[in-house]
Amino acid sequence: MAVSDLYSEIILEHYKEPHNVGELDCPEVFAKGYNESCGDDIKIYAQIKNGKVEEIKFKGKGCAISQSSASMMTDLMYGKTIDEAKEFIKQFTKKITGEEDFPSDSDEWFELSALKGVIKFPVRVKCASLSWHTLLQGIKEFENKNELKQ
Ligand code: ZN
Repeated sequence: MAVSDLYSEIILEHYKEPHNVGELDCPEVFAKGYNESCGDDIKIYAQIKNGKVEEIKFKGKGCAISQSSASMMTDLMYGKTIDEAKEFIKQFTKKITGEEDFPSDSDEWFELSALKGVIKFPVRVKCASLSWHTLLQGIKEFENKNELKQ
């Protein structure tokens, strides 16, 4: 399979016009991620209100896979509770590493399944997972901070 086959139309659309690009002032969740094998980097910002993701933005540089995955991921995180977000990250990780299949009958997974071409390329799996792992890291730090406050 040629590398060009990885870049389906959905991926290219998100790469050319990524959703939720920007920064947030005083974000409750913030994390930076870097993918050494490809040079992708990403910053994720999120506001949490009433235990839910009220707003989420990202800024990044890198390959189409990493940036389009961040665009799709942030779209899908709106309105999720912290637990739902963590579960979604876990589910995505299982799918992108080939441990489980992408659901074929789910709206939520429809665009994400465009990424499944990367499964055979471990280096590309890192690109696709970068924003998800970065958000998880930010959520964990957010939870630790909140525990300390109590
Ligand atoms: Zn990459």
